[in-house]
Amino acid sequence: MTARLIDGRAVAADLRAALHSRIAGLGLTPGLAVVLVGDDPASAVYVRNKDRAAHSVGIAARTHRLPQATGEAELLALIAALNADDGVDGILLQLPLPAHLDASRAILAIDPAKDVDGLHPLNAGKLLAGNPSLAACTPLGVMKLLAAIDAAPAGKRALVLGRSVLVGRPLAALLTNADATVTLAHSRTRDLREECRRAEILVAAVGRAEMVRGDWIAAGAVVIDVGINRTADGRLVGDVAYDEALAVAGALTPVPGGVGPMTIACLLENTLTAALARRAL
Ligand code: NDP
Repeated sequence: MTARLIDGRAVAADLRAALHSRIAGLGLTPGLAVVLVGDDPASAVYVRNKDRAAHSVGIAARTHRLPQATGEAELLALIAALNADDGVDGILLQLPLPAHLDASRAILAIDPAKDVDGLHPLNAGKLLAGNPSLAACTPLGVMKLLAAIDAAPAGKRALVLGRSVLVGRPLAALLTNADATVTLAHSRTRDLREECRRAEILVAAVGRAEMVRGDWIAAGAVVIDVGINRTADGRLVGDVAYDEALAVAGALTPVPGGVGPMTIACLLENTLTAALARRAL
């Protein structure tokens, strides 16, 4: 078997096009504020991409750059100003923050109605309760990729590998809400390979290059690779051994060009969702 490739770039382009026409039709300009603290080069690239994508669909994005040495009071003051700014519908705090800053305190300071990353405990709690309003972008992107290939999770055995607050936990909640039978696996999971082999939908979000081998995958399973890892020779690879998975899986996302573009498209969608909710539209 050769797996069907799931083209995240194409699905994301369709979502952006749909957002563009919805925003134009509504005649509004949602505002997105991106907060970037410090000079992490990868974060700078992500922020540039988000900024560009936002403008391409008619969202007014503005990046607020704070120096590496920014103190907590200064960061919280900026967040408070953005909460109060009527032109701002969404606030995205680019993570990771420099080590001296507490990310959870900063996230807690964001107005939940503007929390387009879906990381505020109120939004995470609503998602857990089965009543999400703004859900985390990467997990949302994974759900949209499943929908794009008609892989309905209802009744399926889904395994999420990785239990981070950013990806694994909210994705397990979304899959549960979509009626999958969900296993959330992590570094303390026993017999990980056997657990993975039982999954009809397998999502890897570990951050370990090519950890999931071909013999961890059930024949015909849908495999979504969230991982982004740089190898010693400079290649970008996922958490799944791509060539091996291709021979076993029923469908597979590539890295790059799978989940990554969906994360940004879902951020834009969340910004529109927040803008509509704030205007009671
Ligand atoms: P974290 O480091 O926060 O979490 C990693 C998770 O993987 C943890 O739950 C950890 O378990 C688990 N883990 C680590 N090693 C093992 C192991 N050997 N066996 C089993 N489980 C293990 O990572 P993130 O969730 O933030 O990111 C995961 C990956 O996804 C990264 O490569 C990141 O770059 C990528 N990513 C991609 C995005 C995209 O848009 N494509 C967006 C966000 C992330 P434990 O909890 O027990 O420590």
